[in-house]
Amino acid sequence: MVISGRTEVFAVIGDPIEHTLSPAMQNAAFEHLNLDFVFLAFRVTSDELENAVRAVRALGIRGLNVTMPHKNSVTEFLDEADPAVKFLKAVNTLLNQRGRLRGFNTDGVGALGALKNNGVNLAGKKVLLLGAGGAAKAIAFSLTKEVDELCILNRDAAKARELASVLEPCGKKIVGNELSSIQLQQELRDSDVLINATIVGMTPYASESLVKPEWLKPELTVMDIVYNPIETKLIRDARAVGAKVVNGVEMLLYQGAASFEIWTGCKAPVDVMRTAALNQITARGTH
Ligand code: NAP
Repeated sequence: MVISGRTEVFAVIGDPIEHTLSPAMQNAAFEHLNLDFVFLAFRVTSDELENAVRAVRALGIRGLNVTMPHKNSVTEFLDEADPAVKFLKAVNTLLNQRGRLRGFNTDGVGALGALKNNGVNLAGKKVLLLGAGGAAKAIAFSLTKEVDELCILNRDAAKARELASVLEPCGKKIVGNELSSIQLQQELRDSDVLINATIVGMTPYASESLVKPEWLKPELTVMDIVYNPIETKLIRDARAVGAKVVNGVEMLLYQGAASFEIWTGCKAPVDVMRTAALNQITARGTH
């Protein structure tokens, strides 16, 4: 990669930021398509967010990924927001068009991309979604366009019910309920796809799963959006019963691919991006 006075700059901002896989994925894609672009990572504290956004304009940074804890607060600095951002009040992708900042949220699109590109057809299906946090909301918002039925279970039942009720106008069958063993087991019986969008299974909870292995069945597709570790206990248990599995790196990849396409207008080289992400994970020894 040769950096010159013409090189366009992209970056991810968050706090902490050391573990981000975005620079590896995006720089591999830029290089593969011979784009004179570079992707960096900046740790930005909450106190400095406004200054960081000012710097995007001042330095002509072409695009940003925005991660925790800024996904919500960055919305106040936008000139324009896509429908997902308006609904979620959260941004993960920012495009700087000659000083005009446009916000997007590609998390939900990323989850759908991960399922579809792994051969999962969602039309007419029932999805059981565990969690009602930021990622679960984005996934639920995108799923309502595709599925017939969506059941959202969350430890804090009020959040699941609230999410189901705001999604209700989409006209699909959507329910929200408490994430109890009984509810989970009952809803799993007639679900086609199970998505874990909680932090359970993530390091340091890597030995845990919300779903008992005996509740799983071969006809089910199981997606775990946790990507650290890549092979969560839920993914291992699902594979063991013969269920189709989709891991969290796939969602990370397709949300990154969607950001890439927003910034460049080019089709993202997903295989190149996947290899770069997996190489980075392997190099760190965190898989
Ligand atoms: P968040 O907004 O903090 O939400 C956390 C969710 O986990 C909430 O639904 C919370 O339930 C639930 N939870 C926490 N502890 C629990 C427990 N002991 N039992 C049951 N539920 C529990 O976090 P987020 O941003 O949505 O992220 C969630 C996970 O998704 C993280 O592991 C993150 O790394 C991953 N993620 C992956 C991608 C990807 O591209 N693959 C993208 C975004 C996020 P309560 O509401 O009851 O607290």
